[in-house]
Amino acid sequence: MRALILFLSLFLFINNAFGFELILPKEKKSATTSEYAFFVGKSKGFESLTIDGQSVFTASNGAFAHSVKLRDGENRIVLRTNYGAQIYKIYKSASVYNECPIEEMEPVKAYVNCDNTPLRSTPIDGGLNRIAHLFGGTHLVINGSKGDFLRVKLGKNKIAWIAKKDVTITSDSFYPADFINMDTERFKNAMIQTIAFSKKLPYTVEDAEKEIIFRVYNPELSEDSVYNLNIPKPEKYAYNVFLEEGKYTFKVRKLPEDNDVTVVIDAGHGGSEKGAIGCLGDEEKDINLKIAQQTAQLLKDRGYNVIMTREFDANVSLQDRVNIARENNADVFVSIHLNSIGDIPMNIHKNRGTAVFYFNNNAKKLAEILENSVTGQAGTRNDGVQTGSFAVIRPTDYVGVLVETAYMTNPLDSLLYTNDKFIKKAAKGIANGIIQYVKK
Ligand SMILES: [Zn+2]
Repeated sequence: MRALILFLSLFLFINNAFGFELILPKEKKSATTSEYAFFVGKSKGFESLTIDGQSVFTASNGAFAHSVKLRDGENRIVLRTNYGAQIYKIYKSASVYNECPIEEMEPVKAYVNCDNTPLRSTPIDGGLNRIAHLFGGTHLVINGSKGDFLRVKLGKNKIAWIAKKDVTITSDSFYPADFINMDTERFKNAMIQTIAFSKKLPYTVEDAEKEIIFRVYNPELSEDSVYNLNIPKPEKYAYNVFLEEGKYTFKVRKLPEDNDVTVVIDAGHGGSEKGAIGCLGDEEKDINLKIAQQTAQLLKDRGYNVIMTREFDANVSLQDRVNIARENNADVFVSIHLNSIGDIPMNIHKNRGTAVFYFNNNAKKLAEILENSVTGQAGTRNDGVQTGSFAVIRPTDYVGVLVETAYMTNPLDSLLYTNDKFIKKAAKGIANGIIQYVKK
């Protein structure tokens, strides 16, 4: 998953004379801004390997992985086997980090450029700070800036942030929106609330403990103005916001029971997007697909409606994966991946196992069930239920999670994911978890 590995091409540096084949780093001289350098590869018959004087664990299939903390400037790292030594030179540039101050601005009017623009609680591009996705043409009041972000006034004491590139600032004068009407419709498995104004306004969505709270702000009005729509939430739910004939339409629905559920199984990466590369040179995309195919089959055998985002080795964009789920009215979306280490110290016993990620609260329960089910079935280390901002699990229209079945870059895990029995068990763990969640 992590960028470091994503950008790897499958260029293998083979040096049999030293008894190893290195996947990372791919060149003997390189430059980086990372805190750590990773050495990932497999033994071609050495008896012992040390990197920077530290003895490196090697799994029975020859897989090894090791990280070295880098100093600013040139780092000379020695890899030594019983055949001799090799030197890797890695230049680390000093990190330049200046926090931009907040600049106050006279309030100006701006419009959101496109649909699906993230409105954030902090001026940072990433993490869990999205509080809504605004529609193109939304009227905003901007009263400050920081770095690449503009501060959006929602109410007197309520602000948010939006990327500068996502809005157009104008000299238009302020005029508040007129409230037109509000309506509530109740269906057997859903509740829809609509609210209409004379123009598009900013809003936020909060998934609170017992209800979903949709707030629409009218920031050009001189007094503080917010319209709250609260919809109680069922135990298993999905929700979305759309504009229909100029009305904000806010829908919360109950997930269907058991066999009426539509499950999307998403095999991560594919085609030229190889994903993480393991110690042995295996590509994540292939293992994801194998697990996904077997998971889908197990669910089909149980009578579920199953959609796969890819059924063979092909490039599918993240947006297309989301679109496939939406077009098929997905209820549950499970993305299947294998993990890799990022810019952190490598710990053979820690950077391994199964982690399940969720972004929205409605997917937390499914993430917990899958974590237990996969580790129980496949015998992987419990790497925990975690939150993560991945594009395929951000939509709230379905319950979406991302399973990192094991670590591509962990030598012990490489013994597992290269074994067909493990693939089968992982698929069974994922399928059983989904069934358990849906039936509960
Ligand atoms: Zn991945």
